[in-house]
Amino acid sequence: MRILRTIDELRAALRSARDELGEAASVGFVPTMGALHEGHLSLVAAARAENPIVVLSIFVNPTQFNEGEDFARYPRDEQRDAALAEAAGVDLIFAPEASEMYPDGFDTVISVGGRLTEVLEGEQRGSSHFEGVATVVSKLLIAVQPDAAYFGEKDYQQLLVVRRMVADLRLPLRVVGCPTSREDDGLARSSRNTRLSASERRRAVAIPDALTAVAAAVHLGEREVERLRGTAREILEEAGLSAEYLAFVDPESLEAVRTVSAPTLFAVAARVGAVRLIDNRLLTLPDPKR
Ligand code: AMP
Repeated sequence: MRILRTIDELRAALRSARDELGEAASVGFVPTMGALHEGHLSLVAAARAENPIVVLSIFVNPTQFNEGEDFARYPRDEQRDAALAEAAGVDLIFAPEASEMYPDGFDTVISVGGRLTEVLEGEQRGSSHFEGVATVVSKLLIAVQPDAAYFGEKDYQQLLVVRRMVADLRLPLRVVGCPTSREDDGLARSSRNTRLSASERRRAVAIPDALTAVAAAVHLGEREVERLRGTAREILEEAGLSAEYLAFVDPESLEAVRTVSAPTLFAVAARVGAVRLIDNRLLTLPDPKR
């Protein structure tokens, strides 16, 4: 496994990998911000299963954090990441400095418009958040030119935004969504979990508990979003967590719904102490034939 710092080095390494494995050898790409955990490694496994060449990027992208967010405190440990990536079968790590991605005078932004970027994370974190994401992801996709790129459903809205951008720019790759990897108690794996104290870590389980309780209520026949939201809020408040949003939305358009009459995405953002966590679950209706 090699670690590349510049786009030129990355392109040369990809060229020699293809020389070795044949022009038809496909490239699977997993973009990350590092602090790797099993969630990231599940994306690597999906990429590994479908492509002879796997590239992982590690770049804590400053432009997707707004002022006051946790850019400076974001966990970074490249040595550990490299060992985990190598054991998982990554061939090339692309880990550029910010100056490689944003050289002096950089002045181009990719902006996905409309509802997909305005609601939920876009509303809470500001419009620059998804501009930062779309710009860095498009730059990475242009640098790597993968056949397929792998993203987690944990960041569901980000996955929709990337799909929109790839379709709109007709970028020639598949975008693959991968299921959320969870700890044994249900907490979605996240690099930010390492910043939770022991007591915060215990209380954070209220987030997946709220998702599960809402899914169970839907299966028992509850369809009214206001009542479902109340159920979730109670569970979070009991654990002392404050919800930023408890959103019930159409899983394609992110349009808010008032009743659950078709598959509906339930998306949560909540603060546990100083750490902001997000999670979501697709609510499905029970099969009437059963
Ligand atoms: P991040 O390093 O947090 O920017 O995440 C990099 C990629 O890993 C994104 O596509 C995330 O959606 C994905 N990811 C993060 N956490 C998980 C998880 N628990 N399960 C599956 N994918 C994840």
